[in-house]
Amino acid sequence: MKGYAMLRIGEAGWIEKPVPECGPMDAICRPLAVAICTSDVHTLWEGAIGDRHNMILGHECSAEVVKVGDLVKDFKPGDRVIVPAITPDWNSLEAQAGYSMHSGGMLAGWKFSNFKDGVFGEFFHVNDADGNLAHLPEDFDPVEATQLSDMVPTGFHAVELADVQFGDVVLVIGIGPVGLMSVAGCALRGASRIIAVGTRPVCVEAAKGYGATDFISYKDGSISEQVLAMTDGKGVDKICMAGGTVDTFSEAVKALKPGGKIGNVNYLGKGDTIAIPRVEWGVGMGHKQINGGLMPGGRLRMEKLARLVSFGRLDLKPLCTHVFEGWDKLPEALQLMRDKPADLIKPIVVVNK
Ligand code: NDP
Ligand code: ZN
Repeated sequence: MKGYAMLRIGEAGWIEKPVPECGPMDAICRPLAVAICTSDVHTLWEGAIGDRHNMILGHECSAEVVKVGDLVKDFKPGDRVIVPAITPDWNSLEAQAGYSMHSGGMLAGWKFSNFKDGVFGEFFHVNDADGNLAHLPEDFDPVEATQLSDMVPTGFHAVELADVQFGDVVLVIGIGPVGLMSVAGCALRGASRIIAVGTRPVCVEAAKGYGATDFISYKDGSISEQVLAMTDGKGVDKICMAGGTVDTFSEAVKALKPGGKIGNVNYLGKGDTIAIPRVEWGVGMGHKQINGGLMPGGRLRMEKLARLVSFGRLDLKPLCTHVFEGWDKLPEALQLMRDKPADLIKPIVVVNK
């Protein structure tokens, strides 16, 4: 089979590989539509997870099952599925402790295009198929379903990590596709005011649609100063972080009320340490929490999130700005995600019907 692979840091290309083997609890799938992620850009061009050789890229897709192992109960060849970016080992001690995403070690639930070949190939392997795959509801567009792999569960996880409650004033830092789903998640959880940080016009428009009430630009100076000016010097109750750098954390801590919580899902591709401002952290006693996390994955979560779309509570169409047809468009779509033109939110390639 062919796949589009990271050959080494900074270089990608088509390679040939054997079709992956199917263990007794596993599934082999073929993608229907694949989406490019900012994390693919961090992995390939920034070497953010280290070097990888001939590793097929990609972790976001909708798919069709082509083969299942003898012990798989709920999926069969021909089933259309949502494929979560994170595919934990559900019988691990970490999963039993509530941290499925770290099953087998730190971040080790993230297997596609990290520890094994990803989904930008004609076929790909899914471990623990009953725990990880989710049924794609009938009439659900496979293009929109790609957004359930990572954008929806990750953006929403920032909202969970920040513990957003009815009436909270929330700051969402970064309104790329992940942050847009954080805005949508904050609105669903009943935030009163959602202040969004980001500049690309297409994202600003989409954020308004998802419920953002105010906007600030990180290009217009300090985020915290702008937030404090808008909130009578009080700051916000909660912060979702889906953009910025290691330096953005000090801005977030300064913009947060005592007792506030930060939920971070931003992938920090550069820098060694994160500075926490001593005074604004209440000289160590401000009850300001920072929770950073990888989304948990899992069939239950995926099927619940899909229901939000099926029942009209969440619209994924605004995310799907660039849709291509055919495997040969994949390199172009990946490059587009790297370049981030002004009208881009997500590039998606339909590879099978
Ligand atoms: P995008 O690059 O599309 O969006 C980033 C956003 O951050 C944009 O709105 C951008 O603004 C804004 N931004 C850029 N620089 C700054 C800054 N200095 N301060 C504040 N805001 C800034 O990314 P995605 O939405 O695709 O992904 C967001 C992050 O989430 C990535 O790091 C990605 O790797 C990570 N991720 C994490 C996952 C997880 O499981 N934890 C899974 C998937 C992704 P502008 O409008 O100006 O471009
Ligand atoms: Zn992703």
